[in-house]
Amino acid sequence: MNTEQKKHHFTIPVFIPMEACPFQCIFCDQDRISGRTTIPEPVEVNSIIQRHLATIPEKGSDIEVGFFGGTFTGLSPEKQKVYLEAVLPFTESGRIAGIRLSTRPDFISSRILELLGRYPVRTIELGAQSMDDEVLRKSGRGHTSSQTREASALILAAGFSLGLQMMVGLPGDTEEKAVNTAKRIIESGASETRIYPVIVIKGTPLEKLFREGKYLPLELDEAIQITKDVVRVFDESNVKIIRIGLHPSEGLLNRKEYIAGPFHVSFRELVMTALWTDRFRKILEEKQGESIGIRVNPADLNPAIGYYGKNRKLLEKHFRSVKFLPDPEIKEKKFHADRH
Ligand code: SF4
Repeated sequence: MNTEQKKHHFTIPVFIPMEACPFQCIFCDQDRISGRTTIPEPVEVNSIIQRHLATIPEKGSDIEVGFFGGTFTGLSPEKQKVYLEAVLPFTESGRIAGIRLSTRPDFISSRILELLGRYPVRTIELGAQSMDDEVLRKSGRGHTSSQTREASALILAAGFSLGLQMMVGLPGDTEEKAVNTAKRIIESGASETRIYPVIVIKGTPLEKLFREGKYLPLELDEAIQITKDVVRVFDESNVKIIRIGLHPSEGLLNRKEYIAGPFHVSFRELVMTALWTDRFRKILEEKQGESIGIRVNPADLNPAIGYYGKNRKLLEKHFRSVKFLPDPEIKEKKFHADRH
């Protein structure tokens, strides 16, 4: 019997906004998205970590510190070192397993990777956003898709894990281009991804375009539909989706920073519900009236039932009674229907 327990993964986020980033992507207002305007001093990093550690169980946890928010490798090498060194006491004591950080594809080089390799950095996440050059250009990204591919190859060759983030609904983006971006991300060797629908945030160049009628954000339903197609592509690969939808910062929740676009606190659940609606389509075409028991893997129980029971309600219109049952024997993303 395998006695090794599955560890719970935690990432302690440390936001290093804008200062490090000389760009202005049209959708980005780092200060507002990360909810702060100053960048943390290294001593603050220590207290951020301590604060989080106090809430995480010691046993059975795999904990990383994540430097997010800006372009980590755009900081001076000295500053990068100071931040990375702030984590060392925790990795040396064994409480923290490693570091992850996010940066831009054009801020990766052999020299930069050599520096990161001297520290317990495990994963480097690149903001790919799109693998379509026209979309990248219209979004003011300042890099091309081939730079993303080259940086990905360098990261993998240096022995790091690779994460590639993508967005849906950027200017010039289409459903086809989004699906294509997902395929290119898989080809680039990423082991994980994050998918963000584009939201128009106050004070960004995108707000100006939106107000001038030059940018039309996706409707919530469209964003769910496109993201669902993208998720389906990733599901057929080994790429793990670690996030779908923007983190609901205070400014988005109280709508002070929100201008337009498909923001929803439960965006991931909505996408998962839609994926399961599609999986149930076939049985919805079958004869009505029977009672039905649907067995799914326990991990799939909530998404299969759907956001606010949407899928259960849909099936209840069709079958006399509907029961969902968790069954560890059923593979994830599959279901078995028992008719009575
Ligand atoms: S590179 Fe990143 S931090 Fe800089 S403007 Fe673009 S999205 Fe924002």
